[in-house]
Amino acid sequence: MQYDSQSIEKKWQQFWNENGSFEPLEEECGKEKKYILSMFPYPSGRIHMGHVRNYCLGDAFARHFRKNGFNVLHPIGWDSFGMPAENAAIKHKLHPKKWTYENIDYMRKELEGLGLSFSKTREFATSDELYTKWEQEFIIRMYQEGLLYQKSSTVNWCEPCHTVLANEQVEEGCCWRCDTPVQQKRCQGYYVAITKYAQTLWMI
Ligand SMILES: [Zn+2]
Repeated sequence: MQYDSQSIEKKWQQFWNENGSFEPLEEECGKEKKYILSMFPYPSGRIHMGHVRNYCLGDAFARHFRKNGFNVLHPIGWDSFGMPAENAAIKHKLHPKKWTYENIDYMRKELEGLGLSFSKTREFATSDELYTKWEQEFIIRMYQEGLLYQKSSTVNWCEPCHTVLANEQVEEGCCWRCDTPVQQKRCQGYYVAITKYAQTLWMI
């Protein structure tokens, strides 16, 4: 027997879409809840195999818990704010908003094609105005509470990308995005005093 992926998967994906099959239900709020959140993809343009591996794992968990009677919330969003989007927009001579949201539309279709069981009604992007409004509010509150401080430290710097890189984004001494050798640079930056919460987190 042959597995006709094109027609079978399309048929079920359409059924799930039309029936809101993966939305947590209010009438099921008596059930035990499970919140399954995978790391948001950065909307760089196209889904790659790293995304497929990552989101299939979360999807397997979500489906497992639904089958076992849990009321599951498995949302998705887009990590779409910051220098990489600005640099890509400069490179492609487009406004960052246009570049970012066009990529999101394209990548959402690709993820849908994988049949992943995300809630469709709770998707957002970290570049959405509503999200950044609350993010800024949190920053102001943390500043007022004395949880933000400035210090100078040595960071990984990529000159063409004009941005700081995390250690994980440095591959064999070069930038993961553009392959330029990474420089060490002294930089003044803002930091969050998360250790002030260490005791509270331990209590949770
Ligand atoms: Zn770079």
